[in-house]
Amino acid sequence: MRFKRLRLAGFKSFVDPTELRIEDGLTGVVGPNGCGKSNLLEAIRWVMGESSPKSLRGGGMEDVIFAGTQSRPSRDFADVTLQLDNDDRTAPAQFNDGDQIEVTRRIERGLGSAYRINGKDVRQKDVQLLFADAATGAHSPALVSQGRIGAIIAAKPQERRAMLEEAAGIAGLHVRRKDAEQRLRAAEANLSRLDDVLQTME
Ligand code: ATP
Repeated sequence: MRFKRLRLAGFKSFVDPTELRIEDGLTGVVGPNGCGKSNLLEAIRWVMGESSPKSLRGGGMEDVIFAGTQSRPSRDFADVTLQLDNDDRTAPAQFNDGDQIEVTRRIERGLGSAYRINGKDVRQKDVQLLFADAATGAHSPALVSQGRIGAIIAAKPQERRAMLEEAAGIAGLHVRRKDAEQRLRAAEANLSRLDDVLQTME
């Protein structure tokens, strides 16, 4: 799966609807200080399900919504869509019905975030797993923001391992294992309740 297009509206400094084509290969973003380079990278991480406002340089998640300037009023929502190429049909089965996948995240003041994949409402976890399985994600080393190289060099062994797992596309397996373990514990608790009931009936 390759990233094809990024559409933003009301996200940080990108108040007007903006569409960017993402070509094959390495993409660099250049421009004068304060023009919004980091905001673009943050938009990609945000639509992938980033849940930490701090890592998006904000105090709360609503800080990603255009806050207004002297000449323009603030907005009440932000919307980011990432279009992915699915020519090779490697998307998870439930989203694997076309050559493209569109992932959208929208936040409204007071209402929180909502996610859609190909127009269908999904959970944050579905989006995070989609990207984790595609060996990318909000914390992927494929997205190199300012200071990231230094952070990778200074990372602890455990953090480096997490980066390698993300790059290898196995980060999603940990999430699924945790889910499976939770379900197993719930099933075990049910079985033991069932035993109690059976004993009282004997
Ligand atoms: P530098 O090269 O200095 O790191 P940059 O090109 O990466 O800069 P960004 O940090 O992406 O620039 O963008 C900074 C701009 O985004 C600032 O002008 C800031 O006011 C604006 N900005 C950030 N959040 C919001 C928001 N919620 N609403 C409106 N503008 C915002």
